[in-house]
Amino acid sequence: MDKKIRVTVWNEYLHEVEDAAIGAVYPQGIHGAIGEFLGQEGDMEVRLATLREEEHGLTEEVLQQTDVLLWWGHKAHHEVDDQVVDRVQRRVLEGMGLIVLHSGHYSKIFKRLMGTTCSLRWREAGEKERVWVIEPGHPIAQGLDHYFEIPHTEMYGERFDIPEPDTLVFVSWYAGGEVFRSGCCYQRGFGKVFYFAPGHETYPIYHQKEVQQVITNAVRWARPIPSQAMPLTGDRVPPLEPLD
Ligand code: ZN
Repeated sequence: MDKKIRVTVWNEYLHEVEDAAIGAVYPQGIHGAIGEFLGQEGDMEVRLATLREEEHGLTEEVLQQTDVLLWWGHKAHHEVDDQVVDRVQRRVLEGMGLIVLHSGHYSKIFKRLMGTTCSLRWREAGEKERVWVIEPGHPIAQGLDHYFEIPHTEMYGERFDIPEPDTLVFVSWYAGGEVFRSGCCYQRGFGKVFYFAPGHETYPIYHQKEVQQVITNAVRWARPIPSQAMPLTGDRVPPLEPLD
């Protein structure tokens, strides 16, 4: 049997402790909710990490033992230490998968990896979101129908200032009329990056089965592929054939 996928779910974990209504939606925190459904998959082992832990719970050792990292942050992106951001970026370039959720679009690590502002238009009105599957053959869309709906969501609209995705798996439509590239795949170095928009903290979005399916699929998709070409050290090398 294959080795289990070592998953680390990172959350800033502030809204849930500071706001009772949000704490009621996610009593174990957003990281706890995501960790719980991923932990039920036989091929995954899950670790949780949060902002207020030493080194945000993302020490060199933890990251070395992480195959796929999930990232949820919102109000404290600026509190994330740049050294930790450097460390996560390096691990992605080495092959660690990274799944950036919802307001993580403005995290230091996502902006670093994208190289753009990652700004977007938004509205918090509790409206309906219809998530359209653009690439039904993609591993992240496995098990989904043509679309699924989130009854109450925060609107994220275009333009979303990201580089063109390598693969656009989902596009969302909102009751207010906007559209948004809500499921975007990228390769950075040896690592795979997936951005998934749904997940505003005041709605039970991570309790919804289609959302859980997407995140579970994304973890499997983002798992590192071992490569003989690693590590990339930029070595000076002799020619393979004799040169004149
Ligand atoms: Zn939000």
